[in-house]
Amino acid sequence: MVISLDESPNPAYICPADIACTNLDRAAQILQLDPGAVEVLRTPHRVLTVSIPVRMDDGQIHVFAGHRVQHCNILGPYKGGMRYHPSVTLREVSSLAMLMTWKCALLGIPYGGAKGGIAVDPQALSAGELERLTRRFTSELVRDIGPQIDIPAPDVGTGAREMAWMMDTYSMSVGHASPGVVTGKPLSVGGSKGRDAATGRGVVIASREALLTGKKSLRGATIAIQGFGKVGKAAALIFEQEGARVIAVSDASGGRYDPEGLDIERLADYVRDGSRLINSSQGQFISNAELLTLECDVLVPAALENQITEANAAQVRARIVAEGANAPVTIEADRILEERGVTVLPDILANAGGVVVSYLEWVQGLSYLFWDEEKVNLELEKLMVAAYTRVLQQAVKFRLPLRPAAYTLAVGRVVEAFNQRGLYP
Ligand code: GLU
Repeated sequence: MVISLDESPNPAYICPADIACTNLDRAAQILQLDPGAVEVLRTPHRVLTVSIPVRMDDGQIHVFAGHRVQHCNILGPYKGGMRYHPSVTLREVSSLAMLMTWKCALLGIPYGGAKGGIAVDPQALSAGELERLTRRFTSELVRDIGPQIDIPAPDVGTGAREMAWMMDTYSMSVGHASPGVVTGKPLSVGGSKGRDAATGRGVVIASREALLTGKKSLRGATIAIQGFGKVGKAAALIFEQEGARVIAVSDASGGRYDPEGLDIERLADYVRDGSRLINSSQGQFISNAELLTLECDVLVPAALENQITEANAAQVRARIVAEGANAPVTIEADRILEERGVTVLPDILANAGGVVVSYLEWVQGLSYLFWDEEKVNLELEKLMVAAYTRVLQQAVKFRLPLRPAAYTLAVGRVVEAFNQRGLYP
């Protein structure tokens, strides 16, 4: 992600060359928005960087840097994941926080946008070290998060276990159990059925709708998925259940390819103990770079940012790219795909299933009611299909590709609320 913070005296400023900002500007131009309102939206509302000292297992103290960027709370509490990955920077987190604002606005859920993270390789830490890291990070943020303030969730490198530690640390500090402070919790502490697979399920729903728009069924459609983590694996399993043919999946080590279709259940079992796909005997080996250029109906980049770039966009042979990850397609690549007529289901739509079920988890928790998985999945389905339909209608109305169509809807919704609420004081 290209963000230069050095251009502005405000250290949180997201530079116009950044992917989220470029798309904001394009939407602002189409909607002819007041430049002042756009300036408000370009700048995150609050930026926190905290130092997190942790006693490591060997007795030494290691100091980590943790970030939380609260981009916008015009539509509701700040909302977004906490990422643990060696490449985390304040710039990356700022941009991802902005994407959360658009994602929540697009889906029509009453949240603003935020993102947080720590530059750490979670696989290099013991469970005890990770727990101390997570608890100290949470305690540093205790006055800045809360069920009505800012609600963290899992992201790359974090999951239900980290959310339980966050919820417990926050609850200890406020003196009562506060499940609404985070989403993506384990079921035993107020998590929601269906949350684990929600992002993947949303990717499948969005892909199915896009295929239907092109008069093609999900049944028998060929799918390639980069990433076999929380998003990619869940999506692969659901694609398989829905009768699609998943021809390739990969993790960081590389992937497996079988034009006849892989057995995803078996691969999911295979990686359960931490085994890497490179060592599996199913199908044939395929590198991550090769996977992205496979001929298929739907390509799902579900790993990290910047996977489809100027260098490989011309070789993408999928008809639909469904962004399971946030910002996997660079601005230049987006333009190339657009010119080549590849349908791109933008991240703020395609991977919104996670935050939608986060919202459903939060609603269930606040109302002390718990739904069965069928009801959760049904609500997810309704919200995703409605959002896809709105985006498609907008695309047709303004003759736009799906990404700018989605951005005009999301940005328009936030600006409308901003205008109606007015500028304080
Ligand atoms: N980290 C996920 C995302 O990028 C989920 C965020 C949430 O549930 O708040 O959408």
